[in-house]
This record gives sequence, C-alpha cells and structure tokens, in this order.
Amino acid sequence: MNPLKNTILKLNRLILALALTATILTLFNSFYSNYQVQKEQLILQSLESNMAYASKLSDTTEMFLRSSQQQLAFTANALSEQMSNSVRLNQEANRLKYQTDSFNSVVISNELGITKAASPEALNLVGVKLNSVGTTEALYEKKALISAPYISSINNLVVFMSEPIVGRNGDYLGFLGGTIYLKNLNILSEILGDHYYENGSYIYVVDKEKKILYHPNISRIGTTVINNDGLDKMLTQKEGGMQLINSQGITMLAGYSTIASTGWIVVTQSPLQATLEPLFGIMQKVLLRTLPVACAVFLFIWFFARSISRPLQQLADKATTLNSPTVSREIESINSWYVESHGLKQAMLIGVQLLQNQIGELKRDAETDPLTGASNRRALQLTLKQQIYIGRAFSVLALDIDFFKRVNDTYGHKVGDDVLKQLTKVMTHFSKAGDMVSRTGGEEFVILLKNERLEMALALAEQLRTAVANEPFELVGNITVSIGIAHWSPEKPQTIETLLALADQALYKAKEQGRNRCVIANDLS
Ligand code: GH3
Ligand code: MG
Ligand code: MG
Repeated sequence: MNPLKNTILKLNRLILALALTATILTLFNSFYSNYQVQKEQLILQSLESNMAYASKLSDTTEMFLRSSQQQLAFTANALSEQMSNSVRLNQEANRLKYQTDSFNSVVISNELGITKAASPEALNLVGVKLNSVGTTEALYEKKALISAPYISSINNLVVFMSEPIVGRNGDYLGFLGGTIYLKNLNILSEILGDHYYENGSYIYVVDKEKKILYHPNISRIGTTVINNDGLDKMLTQKEGGMQLINSQGITMLAGYSTIASTGWIVVTQSPLQATLEPLFGIMQKVLLRTLPVACAVFLFIWFFARSISRPLQQLADKATTLNSPTVSREIESINSWYVESHGLKQAMLIGVQLLQNQIGELKRDAETDPLTGASNRRALQLTLKQQIYIGRAFSVLALDIDFFKRVNDTYGHKVGDDVLKQLTKVMTHFSKAGDMVSRTGGEEFVILLKNERLEMALALAEQLRTAVANEPFELVGNITVSIGIAHWSPEKPQTIETLLALADQALYKAKEQGRNRCVIANDLS
C-alpha cells in the first residue's frame, strides 16, 4: 500500500472541495450582495416615501395655518370699527368657530386683554381678563402670532393663533385669536391623523423646542422629546430622511420636513423591521433563481476540473506499477487531451521504455556468459527450475571438449577462446526454440533439450557430436566432444542437482570409454 495515499489528499477530492468552495463562495457572495442591495433599496425607498410624505404634510399644514391666519386677519380687519358692537363680535367669534373647523375656540379681546366675545359661549370668558401664555404674548407683541403649545386658562393644551385688531388711525384695539386644542379632535389631527399606518408607521409633529404638538399617542402630546439626537439633526437640517431609534427603542426610518412659518417639524416614520419584511420573500426568490445556476456552475467546474485531473491521476496510478509488463500499453491508452498531460504521458512512456530496456539488459547480462554469449549457470538453474515446475519431461546434455588443454597448450589461450565461441555457435545451431545452451565451466556446457523423449535427446546428441567432429576450427582443425545424457520425467522427478550429477557421471563415462561419444546416465535414484 502506498503510504502517501493516506497522508496526501487525493486530487479528485481536492477538486471536489475546490468546486464546492468556489460554488458556495460565489453563491454566498451573490446572495449577500443581493441582500445588501435589496436592503439598501428598501430602506432608501422607505426613507424617500417618508420624506415625500413629511414634505407633503408640512406643506398642507402650512397651507392650513396660512389660510387660518388669513381668516383671522380678514375678520380682525372687519372688526376694527366694531369693537364696541358686542353682538357683532359674538357673531364673528361664532362664525370663525363654527363656519370652519380651523379652531376649537375663538376669543376677541380688547387692548387690555379683557375678553369681549368668545365661542363656544359655554366657555364663559366674556369679561374675563385672559392671562394665558398665548393671550399675553398677543397683547405684548401686537402682531400676527402662532404661539408655542401651552396649557390654557381652562386647562387645555393649546396652540394660540392671533391677529391684532387695529383701528383706522393705527391704534391697537385688541386681538382676535383662535385656539387649537392639541389633545382634542382638531384640524391638525384631522390633517395628520388620517395617515396612521397599520405596519407601525406614524406621524408626529414637534415645535422648535421639541415639544410634541401632534402624536398618535395622545398622552405624549405636550411633552418634550429628550435624548433624541435625530431630532436635533432634524431641527438643524430642516428637511431630509434618517435612520433613528425611537423612544421605545425601535429602529425607525424617518422622513421630516419643517413647516416654514412656525418652525414645526413634521416627522413620518416607519419601523425598519416592517420596511425589511419583504426582504425575506425577495431573498427566497433570489435563492431559488440563483440556485440552479450555482448547481450548473458547480457541475461545470467539477466535470471540467475532473477531466483536467483524470489523465494526471491515471498517470500517477501507472507510476506505481512501472515494472508491470503491460504498463506501456496502459499508459498508451490514457487520454491525455491537453499539452501538459500529453507531455507527461510521453515522458512516462519514454521512461518506461528505458527502464524496461535496462531491466532487460541487466537480466541478459546477469544470465549470459560474456565470452560465448551462451546462457550461464544461473540462467540454466532458473530454466531447469521452471521446467521442473511445469512438470513436462526433458533431457540435459553435459558436454566437455576432449583434450582441450592441448588446444590451449598448442595454440594459446586466445585460440582456445575462439574454439569455445565457435563451438557455442554449432551447439546453438542444433538446439531448437525453447532449448538452452549454457556454459557451466571452462570448456564444459549443459544443453537443455525440451523434447520429451530420451531417444530423441540421444539422437540429437549424436548429431551434435558428429557435427562438432566434422566442424573445421581455424588453426586448430578438428576437435571432439564427449556428451553425458540425463533425462527428467514427471514419473521419476529428480532434483536439479541429481539430474546434473547424473549427466556429469555419464560424461565421465564417455571420457572413460575413449571420448568423442555420447553416454546415457544410469538411473541412480
Ligand atoms: P579431457 O577433458 O578430455 O579429459 O581433457 P582436457 O584437456 O580437456 O582436460 P580438462 O577438461 O581437465 O582441461 C580443461 C582445460 O580447459 C584446462 C584449461 O586450460 C582449459 N580452459 C578452461 N577454461 C578455459 C577458457 O576459458 N579458455 C581457454 N582458452 N581455455 C580454458
Ligand atoms: Mg573439463
Ligand atoms: Mg576437457
């Protein structure tokens, strides 16, 4: 087993991880950026609509205030000659009170602040000197005014609008004033209150001092807003939109606009949470739409990366079995479809070829006798082992040159060597495919004959002996050989040593019997 396989990540797992990571990151990225964009869009939309709304409401309120002020101015002008006509004053007070919804109450006071007429009459203010904030201010300033909210003499939270009554010659005769009861049904609440939303959106109005003039929660009207940074900004910026946290700790998206004539600020705000409610549905849709593409991207990356890695993986697999005889063919069949993998494949094929050539050469060297090119004793042993393993009958011939010492002595060692080489050629010529000629000693050879019958071996040995005897050797002329023959059969299986010893003994006999002959070994077993 390859230990690397346990410690190093496999390429296909890496690729799977790569494809998954790339897909998830892309999906997450697109989902997240979509989420952010959608969220920003929703917030922006809400802010813009609140801003537009606040602006519209402040315009409407401004128009209302202006028209109310005009009504007061017109009537005040008409009253300049009538200050002593209490019937007329009452008529005008009632008309202002009941003809329009502008005021909750109307008063007409003389230059000393004594009420000359009031509506509704039930207030019983005629003859009373009013010293509320609004009336005192009106008397003092002697001009058109809209007061800050205050508690009136009859204990109402009010805003007081007044217009001076001036005589023909410019002398101050008193004032005509209308109150708006902030906590009762009034024209402001009618303008603003219609627009209360279900989703937690609401509108409120504060004056310059942050005193609440209108709020859906009536108990808050008249109170001063504290600890609201947003409101500070609104007072300075006059118009705009912002995200803020309201007194209940709820994050709100607010639009605000200032009423020019009074400096009051109309704020319309919606909870951030309600604004973002559609986000979930939108993101679900985004996910549903992006998911198939993400899956397709994943599959594409995966398949593509896999087909890039496949040849590498296959080549790596083959690299572990380079000694297999079929490895070249297996590498050949790998589809190396891009340049680098093709280069690797070619390099591996060349490498395998070199390796196998070298192994072949080494094997040949290890099993070949360098002088004659015949097999050596080692190769003979291996082949005999195989032959015995197969279990089919065969013969061995032990061959020794007769009086070879003399050849050496007479012609020298070099000529002796040439004789050995030429003799090897003759023996090889006589052996058949599968037979083996091996040099086992100086001028001793063993020939393995794979024919199954002993007679055939004897016949061949005889032919060989005759052929050698008739073969002319350069300088030396003729030589002879003696041959001992031993036979192996599955019926009488002998060890290699015994078999070769038998052949040697037969060879010895041939020598004894006068040489240049073939002798079959007696069965020694
Ligand atoms: P016989 O076998 O017929 O009894 O006589 P022989 O002269 O051949 O005797 P033996 O087999 O004992 O002699 C072997 C000789 O073979 C000794 C040596 O000079 C020679 N010889 C052995 N190896 C080589 C070799 O590699 N090259 C050469 N030129 N001669 C060798
Ligand atoms: Mg010898
Ligand atoms: Mg000899």
